Amino acid sequence: MPQQEQYRQRSYALSREALELIDELGLSANPINYAVFFAYVEKSNEDLVALIDILQSNQRALDDVKCHELYQRFIEPGRVDLLRKTISNDLLKQMSDLIDRISNGKNVITAADLRNATNDLLGVSTPSTAHQSSKQHTDTDQAPVEVTQLLLDLEEMKREAHTDGLTGIANRKAFDESLRDAAMATMEGGECLSILLIDIDHFKRINDTHGHQAGDQVIRTLAKTLQQNVKGRDTTARYGGEEFAVILPATTLSDAMRVAENIRASFAALHLKSINRNEDLGRITASIGVATYQLGEPLSRVIERADQALYLAKENGRNCVMNQNDLLTQPINRAESA
Ligand code: GH3
Ligand code: MG
Ligand code: MG
Repeated sequence: MPQQEQYRQRSYALSREALELIDELGLSANPINYAVFFAYVEKSNEDLVALIDILQSNQRALDDVKCHELYQRFIEPGRVDLLRKTISNDLLKQMSDLIDRISNGKNVITAADLRNATNDLLGVSTPSTAHQSSKQHTDTDQAPVEVTQLLLDLEEMKREAHTDGLTGIANRKAFDESLRDAAMATMEGGECLSILLIDIDHFKRINDTHGHQAGDQVIRTLAKTLQQNVKGRDTTARYGGEEFAVILPATTLSDAMRVAENIRASFAALHLKSINRNEDLGRITASIGVATYQLGEPLSRVIERADQALYLAKENGRNCVMNQNDLLTQPINRAESA
């Protein structure tokens, strides 16, 4: 079974387990309780698991208020990281589709609706009648769940999980997903797909001379420069540290070179002053590697070519753009450091 399918099935099993526990405990099936119990059944946070186990073994009430406390203490601080780890784009999409389907235009659904739909989706029978007969269970069953709020929360989760905190553009995870989608579209449509990898030159020096905050400011400025130089269908992403990537669907290598050159020139033309210390940051530049996707090849290959072209740009003195064809005439010497 493909790994993604395995992951999807596991996430559904965990979702169902979390909802069942919420139900057994007579709690509302709201996003806060769901997040707490998803983390509990996934055992992603040892302290949270231990505390819930202690509360339960001491017969202490675990109500919506207590769950909210647990959420604020254990989930909220690491929410984005947790989401990155646990919630895939596919799962979020399926969750919103599921909620759309259950609500069928209504503003409020019940915990029972949610549970039954999840069971339907998983192809399992409805939980035992022992569960359904308890008074507490019946009350919870009918507890209203705000559909609009659930959908908004899911949208927000999705946005957070795909956004880089410092720059507000796509993060590495979103880049990977967009590249996969773009490659799929390319294979269907037969158009070109190109990518850029961009790395700020001598960035360590900027941090060392003007401080980390000035470094962050430069990172944000490059993100803005990228956005100003691409079109709506293109994806700009922070690939890591001071490295960025751009996905250019329906773009040939030579057109991608033009985009890259515009980015390089606009960035090099800026005269930045550090906001916090009001220091002149001097001329800051970036190097860019460009590559085009060959139909059917693994995505790691096109990234590798762009990375090698970027390395070549560094070798050629930085503040320049190199592409995959340059690699044929100028073999790179990886013995030197990047
Ligand atoms: P080169 O021209 O070869 O790319 O040299 P460089 O100094 O840019 O490259 P190097 O990889 O040696 O240094 C990258 C530095 O980026 C090191 C790291 O501390 C810094 N860095 C990574 N992420 C961040 C960040 O989010 N904020 C800040 N301020 N600095 C960061
Ligand atoms: Mg780097
Ligand atoms: Mg660098």
